[in-house]
Amino acid sequence: MGTVYTVAAYGRDAEFLAETVNEVFEEVDRLDAQMSNYKPASELSHINREAAREDVVVEPQLFGLIQLCLHLSEDTGGAFDITVGPLMKAWGFFRGQGRVPSPQEIRDVLKDVGYGHVHLDAERRTIHFDEPGIELDLGAKAKGYAVDRAVEILKENGISSALVSSGTSSIYALGAPPGEKGWKISLRDPFDQNKAAETVVLKNFSLSTSGNYERFFKVGEKIYSHIMDPHTGMPVEGVISTCAFTERTTDSDGLSTALYVLGLEASRKYLARHPNIAAIFYLPSSAEKTLRRVSLQSASYQLPPGALVEIEK
Ligand code: ADP
Ligand code: MG
Repeated sequence: MGTVYTVAAYGRDAEFLAETVNEVFEEVDRLDAQMSNYKPASELSHINREAAREDVVVEPQLFGLIQLCLHLSEDTGGAFDITVGPLMKAWGFFRGQGRVPSPQEIRDVLKDVGYGHVHLDAERRTIHFDEPGIELDLGAKAKGYAVDRAVEILKENGISSALVSSGTSSIYALGAPPGEKGWKISLRDPFDQNKAAETVVLKNFSLSTSGNYERFFKVGEKIYSHIMDPHTGMPVEGVISTCAFTERTTDSDGLSTALYVLGLEASRKYLARHPNIAAIFYLPSSAEKTLRRVSLQSASYQLPPGALVEIEK
């Protein structure tokens, strides 16, 4: 998944904690081996090679994750779309250094993009692409999913205070550190990775960020980021970063990407229809190296018992 997983956990028995955290890392490695599109032997690579030719049976949890992804696509009018794989390649984000494809090339590549080409059969647990060239890329959801799996393992082992993160991308705050009300998490300053732009406090809740400073390339002053608008085939512009807060990390990960593509106004509408989401947008402002911050909340916002989310309004 191209990132570093970190677990900080509290408990009485250091040896047991270390054993449990090792179990977590084994599970994360297993998920990486399953869902990577960089590893030819992964189940995802197998699906990408075969699913246009025949129905491919998918492992139950991966099948569930792909179902969630397609659901989010339908829910966001296709702003979120795990078939962006060919676009990532065309723009040089897959193993490449970044490049600007010609308009004709983008038009051609867009023929191989569209979640509508992905068909799932829940009864047989199979996947099928109705066109060759379709490819799945779980880059916007797999990290959050792995964080949730890690948290499940910690809970199964009786650990009730831990912070699990996949790089700066997705974080789950399990319980709170001893004597604290929640985990304090700094959101980085987009213009300086050593500075915090703000701090939030979370308990039994997740956050995920998507930012144009994570993976990008520059041509002159123009920044091309790794988040694609599947409708235009172009990297999304006009957003510096989004941060989504939801109960499950699988959801916040997909959502930070989806809101990034939707932009501020469409995101407002999304949050009006979907409960229990908070979000922060950092948008460019006219002065250089300054930003406009907007925080949003679902129209229906009632956190589950035991959860805490403190964000500056
Ligand atoms: P990060 O990798 O920094 O956590 P995101 O969670 O926003 O960032 O995921 C970005 C990744 O998602 C890209 O590298 C790519 O693999 C994939 N992606 C890009 N655009 C989209 C999109 N519109 N819908 C779904 N996935 C996307
Ligand atoms: Mg994401």
